[in-house]
Amino acid sequence: MSIRPDEISSIIKSQISNYENKLESVDTGTVINIGDGIARVYGLEKCMAGELLEFPGEVFGMALNLEESNVGAVLFGSEKGIKEGDIVKRTGRVVEVPVGEAMIGRVVNSLGQAIDGKGPIKTDKTRPVEVVAPGVIYRKSVNVPLQTGIKAIDSMTPIGRGQRELIIGDRQTGKTAVAIDTIINQKGKDCICVYVAIGQKQSTVAHIVNTLEERGAMDYSIVVSASASEAAPLQYLAPFAGVSMAEEFMYAGKDVLIVYDDLSKHAVAYRTMSLLLRRPPGREAFPGDVFYLHSRLLERSARISDDIGGGSITALPIIETLAGDVTAYIPTNVISITDGQIFLESDLFFSGVRPAINAGISVSRVGGSAQIKAMKQVSGSLRLELAQYRELAAFAQFGSDLDKDSKERIEKGQRLIEVLKQDQYKPMPVEEQIVILYAAVNNFLKDIAVEEVRRFEKEFLEYVRVHKSELLTTILDKKSLDDEVKNLLNTTLDEFKKIFK
Ligand code: ATP
Ligand code: MG
Repeated sequence: MSIRPDEISSIIKSQISNYENKLESVDTGTVINIGDGIARVYGLEKCMAGELLEFPGEVFGMALNLEESNVGAVLFGSEKGIKEGDIVKRTGRVVEVPVGEAMIGRVVNSLGQAIDGKGPIKTDKTRPVEVVAPGVIYRKSVNVPLQTGIKAIDSMTPIGRGQRELIIGDRQTGKTAVAIDTIINQKGKDCICVYVAIGQKQSTVAHIVNTLEERGAMDYSIVVSASASEAAPLQYLAPFAGVSMAEEFMYAGKDVLIVYDDLSKHAVAYRTMSLLLRRPPGREAFPGDVFYLHSRLLERSARISDDIGGGSITALPIIETLAGDVTAYIPTNVISITDGQIFLESDLFFSGVRPAINAGISVSRVGGSAQIKAMKQVSGSLRLELAQYRELAAFAQFGSDLDKDSKERIEKGQRLIEVLKQDQYKPMPVEEQIVILYAAVNNFLKDIAVEEVRRFEKEFLEYVRVHKSELLTTILDKKSLDDEVKNLLNTTLDEFKKIFK
């Protein structure tokens, strides 16, 4: 059989032309249907998961469902100008956000674009929103404290840099307040803060930004906001954008605190998005893998070894519960991913115990090694004494006669509870916390009426600041309470009690 040259050349020609066709379908696709902020695109064969796609009219989207015959993508802009048959282009990059020093002090959306009216952000650095978290050998242990400035937390559920501590509670129990106070307390502590607002009212976010500005906290903070009115994909993206911005600083050796307010709304946004992408339903009607979503987000908080940067990201995710139910799907997920949780309770909040922290069930699994020794010394018995108080107080409600010992325990417990109360926006330096907790734990408040305890605290700390400032500096320097410091504390307390009316 002979082969004619013109036959061969025609086969080669047709292969070459088909090859080009194939190339086309790899880098561009066509919209086959669009609606609810979701587009199905035919073609895009080499598309990556999470890749940025360009739709007509400068609208961008993210490829999320890579299926056999099409790609499901979410849109980050309006779908108004997009119709069936439109061309979609691959960009070859996964979704990225701008990062760097220029972001500090700014309020941005999930794509890192400024929304504070202060003009565009000048930075040429970007980072992908989805990256693999640092592995186990790249991590250092958590042993540097991150002071929240809140007595109840720093004493009983201390947080270390690189830790993930969940703030969980019903609506309006002061969850955001704890996080904001912690951010305010980072002033001058060499820690950059990122506050991610997910699905909140714009007015609430504006109020928070104002608060941070008034207290000078915007000088070291970034606010990422995807408000309730924004599309689900943007709400889904917000925490990932925030943590990418934080990572830039972590890998540069800095400490970062990131607050996700809140992940319940994030789960709902993810649920909406997954349903529209027709992912199959999962537990408690949450389609898609919410556990994986939150675990890959929170795993990115770490304290990394010096070889790869040496910084840290401390995460404070917030979860809203319904009627205190912590056994629901989303709360249990996030409880299991974090290194401890701070439970806030409505009952406590309304009875005036604010911050409404339930000390009995709040824990911090790694922060203890980050606590300074002096704080450990005063807080050692605190949790136990509070637990005893709660038990006895419940018992005493029945009006039974109590023995002297029990009465004393109750009296002391009441004073401890008073001392742990703290106003909003009043974070307290750790040395002052130690001083007042020392007084409470060592029974110096025994003869002060319960309702006078807070006034005593305020006036005593003022007295110490003015007349005994060396006491505060010594505690900070020594970081532990030796006999000398204890003696000084005792005499100061005795002196002050003589003049306290
Ligand atoms: P939401 O569920 O709406 O997000 P939340 O749990 O975040 O609420 P916050 O908004 O922080 O709660 O606080 C609720 C209210 O309680 C606010 O008005 C706040 O000012 C007040 N509050 C919070 N903490 C304290 C505190 N320590 N002392 C006094 N008031 C407080
Ligand atoms: Mg809140």
